[in-house]
Amino acid sequence: MTMRRIVVVGNGIAGQTACEALRGAGFDGELTVVGSERHRPYSRPALSKALLHGDDDGNVAGWVRAHQLPEPAHGAAELLGVSASGLDADARLVMLDDGSRLPYDGLVIASGARPKQLPGTPDDAANVLTLRTLEDAGALKRRVSGRPSVIVVGGGPLGMEVASGCLHAGCDVTLVSDARPLSKQLGHHLAGIFTTAALARGLKLAGGGPARLLEGSKNPDGGARVALADGIILEADLVAVAIGDQPNTGWLANSGLLVDGTLRADSRGRVRPDVVAAGDVAFIPTRQGLRRVPLWTSAIDQAKAAAVGLLLGDAAPELDVQPYFWTEGFGLSLKVLGPTPVIGEPAYCEPGQENGSLLMRWADSVNGGTAAAINYRIPIPKLRRLARSGPVADGSRTVAAHR
Ligand SMILES: Cc1cc2nc3c(=O)[nH]c(=O)nc-3n(C[C@H](O)[C@H](O)[C@H](O)COP(=O)(O)OP(=O)(O)OC[C@H]3O[C@@H](n4cnc5c(N)ncnc54)[C@H](O)[C@@H]3O)c2cc1C
Repeated sequence: MTMRRIVVVGNGIAGQTACEALRGAGFDGELTVVGSERHRPYSRPALSKALLHGDDDGNVAGWVRAHQLPEPAHGAAELLGVSASGLDADARLVMLDDGSRLPYDGLVIASGARPKQLPGTPDDAANVLTLRTLEDAGALKRRVSGRPSVIVVGGGPLGMEVASGCLHAGCDVTLVSDARPLSKQLGHHLAGIFTTAALARGLKLAGGGPARLLEGSKNPDGGARVALADGIILEADLVAVAIGDQPNTGWLANSGLLVDGTLRADSRGRVRPDVVAAGDVAFIPTRQGLRRVPLWTSAIDQAKAAAVGLLLGDAAPELDVQPYFWTEGFGLSLKVLGPTPVIGEPAYCEPGQENGSLLMRWADSVNGGTAAAINYRIPIPKLRRLARSGPVADGSRTVAAHR
């Protein structure tokens, strides 16, 4: 059918990219984007990096100006501070929480994800924080500036970045993780490099299996207690929880689009011909099967593919996710291109000019190579080339493919 009205639900990077990609693909009809957050899209990854580690006074308004994404050129009508509360997919209507309804010919679902909470967390616990939005980041930054003792629950990239930011602010920090931090995401070799740097900066580690909140006082001065599965109880002024996220699909509960509670898109982003999905909300086909790939550049790639998939259907190119990930903390900056976790030692390892900088590659005959750069200045296309092709011989020396 001819698309004259397209509605995009979610005004994060996936929603914004979808709007730009729709215009880029020639859609000149009515475009409306609905976003729960009142802000224009901003860099979410920077919340746990530049914002949390920055030495400014936590002036969030100034920070928003600095980290807002470039002014959009898509000319969509933006309904900000408004949420989609329901969907009638047969009548092609999005219901909004202000009581209005938006009819559409095509729909882009880009409603992202929200943090998982620790079991036992009441809504009004003043000393238990998660980090997803600008407001969360402002609250965390303000609390951390008072140098409280902090328990960070979760040893993934976000937990480690939060722990690093809290240490940077001068807090006493204990990180609770049921495995070596970052090892599930990156593999033991890269995880070891980060853990060593973290311990050297004063991070304390606690294991003990899944954690549970015992008490998160309503009073900011009251502290919080966390119980570990092995019976150990930890106590601190503040608990920062980073145990993963869950897709924002509540508004789709009665839409008939969810399969076992999940939103599944095909390789062109389609949930059905007139509905596409992109970003953290969507399960997509990958080489490792149907899964979410809740990463910034993946959200961008998915949104571009979904926008064209909505307009062109089967004639649209298929999505080919090239995993790219970065993290910063404890004085280290890591870029990884290719599938992770990587297994074992790198087959190739080259020190850079700066102290402690490394360029590495792992070969994987099934999934392709993975290249990683720690504190090593290398443009992404060159890192991609190294991941794909490996180092190349240059006369008597073997040098990295990026040269
Ligand atoms: C602190 C932090 C650090 C991160 N660091 C990295 C990193 O270093 N590298 C990396 O690759 N990835 C990182 N990520 C992940 C990355 O930010 C996400 O993958 C990306 O933001 C997903 O974009 P999205 O547009 O799909 O979802 P979101 O960014 O979540 O945007 C979805 C938007 O939709 C809105 N919304 C939700 N429900 C509704 C509704 N019913 N109606 C209207 N609007 C709705 C939400 O409020 C939100 O604004 C980080 C994430 C966080 C939280």
